[in-house]
Amino acid sequence: MNDAFAALLIVQDHDIAIDQLLYRREHLACRGELDAALNEARQIMPQFQALTSQQAAVNQEEQRIDDEVQRLRVKAEGVNDKLYSGTVTASKELQALQADFDSIRAHIATLEEAELEQMQRSEMANAALEPVQARLNALQAEVQRCQAAIVDGEREVDGLLEAERANRVAAAAIVGTELLQDYESRRTQNRGQGAARLIHGTCQACRLTIPATEVDAIRHDDSGRAWYCDNCSAILVVE
Ligand SMILES: [Zn+2]
Repeated sequence: MNDAFAALLIVQDHDIAIDQLLYRREHLACRGELDAALNEARQIMPQFQALTSQQAAVNQEEQRIDDEVQRLRVKAEGVNDKLYSGTVTASKELQALQADFDSIRAHIATLEEAELEQMQRSEMANAALEPVQARLNALQAEVQRCQAAIVDGEREVDGLLEAERANRVAAAAIVGTELLQDYESRRTQNRGQGAARLIHGTCQACRLTIPATEVDAIRHDDSGRAWYCDNCSAILVVE
């Protein structure tokens, strides 16, 4: 057999290495880890959103009560000022002012109690949100780590791919166009085995044993024609 067939085996070795690198590139461990982190974040998100809006509602209500208390305090102060200003002297009117003042103070006291309850609700809402927020932050960091690892992993594999492809081009130049095309079409049809080493009369692609006379004929054929495995149709190469 001539050099073209030996070079064909080298081309195939590079093709196998390229396929393995492409598989490795596609199945980097960090891709799975990224998917897992994104999935968990997606699952947590509705809970996070519910807790966030709950917290916002509690805070809003607390603020509303607080604003109302402030407004009533100003109002109570006004009534109080009027009560002791000396401008109002009629006892009926003074009694009415006092009653007004007492009623405002009572309203404030009720609101302050409600405000206290609201503050407790706010603390509970914060406590519920905190671990969910912490988990989301951790997942975000994990996503960033995975994305960086994917970039690094791809860069590493791409460097190896580039070298394999360059070496394949060099070997393919020795093989020649016709034999190369024959090999490529057989490789596509035969699960990646376009050429097969023939070792001790056995096709290394499919393990078929070739008769000794045929092996001998292949070994001594310098015509450049290709011999094929009857079983898997790979181009047989005797090294
Ligand atoms: Zn075979």
